[in-house]
Amino acid sequence: MRLQDKVAVVTGAASGIGKEIARVYAREGAKVVIADLNAEAAMATARELDPSGDRSLGVAMDVTNESQVDAGMQQVIDRFGALDVLVSNAGIQIVAPVVEFEFAKWQKMLAIHLDGAFLTTRAALRQMYKQKSGSVIYMGSVHSKEASVLKAPYVTAKHGLIGLSKVVAKEGAAHGVRSNVICPGFVRTPLVDKQIPEQAKELGISEEDVIRKVMLKETVDGEFTTVEDVANTALFLASFESNALTGQSIVVSHGWFMN
Ligand code: NAD
Repeated sequence: MRLQDKVAVVTGAASGIGKEIARVYAREGAKVVIADLNAEAAMATARELDPSGDRSLGVAMDVTNESQVDAGMQQVIDRFGALDVLVSNAGIQIVAPVVEFEFAKWQKMLAIHLDGAFLTTRAALRQMYKQKSGSVIYMGSVHSKEASVLKAPYVTAKHGLIGLSKVVAKEGAAHGVRSNVICPGFVRTPLVDKQIPEQAKELGISEEDVIRKVMLKETVDGEFTTVEDVANTALFLASFESNALTGQSIVVSHGWFMN
């Protein structure tokens, strides 16, 4: 058990990558908190991971809402008395060319990816600093390092997370808190399944070509990254035993973008 009795909050954990991270953390002995906009799915995921309810908690949380984030984190402390790992993972995708991008959609994207990361980090650090330990993990993307057409706010926000993480690594060091970013390639989750037909329409190509010629073109083997690949990276970062590994970003993408 690599996370025995650690308390881990995973945002956006009612689906996709976040859900698999919560599952792997629970398997490794952690008490897991499923914080998600979709309250019903958050509760269902928490029950699925621990039907007894002793070692999992579903929390309704819109990560862009300051009072909901602070209240949700307080609920975690009240319930489990500690907070050891934050995985800031909640995210969405909206695709369109810059020239047509609606300002409201741009703002929504930045709010979820950047305001959400900031608000959950700030709330988590208040507790981690008291404990003098903690691990913060941001769900970046290959798009934290590389650009693609149609994804201006996503690429902007994912690059921004690396900046936030580096500051948290520097400020957190004196308090025993580490901070790192995971940068996955394409993973078949609802977020990606939704954008395949959208990209096909925007680019005027088939869905098959979106997968082969856009999403997986730069990989070394034409393979999708899996939720398990990302969850194992999140386990590695959460359970790393010293402060040596901080301020870093790890690309897990079948070789798409090599540092
Ligand atoms: P997903 O759609 O399967 O899950 C996202 C979850 O976030 C959902 O449960 C949703 O309800 C929740 N969410 C959305 N807005 C929220 C908000 N305001 N507050 C709280 N929860 C909210 O998507 P996924 O593919 O698992 O994506 C998870 C993260 O991984 C995102 O940050 C995404 O950008 C990143 N990512 C995904 C891929 C990929 O290919 N799927 C690749 C790289 C990075």
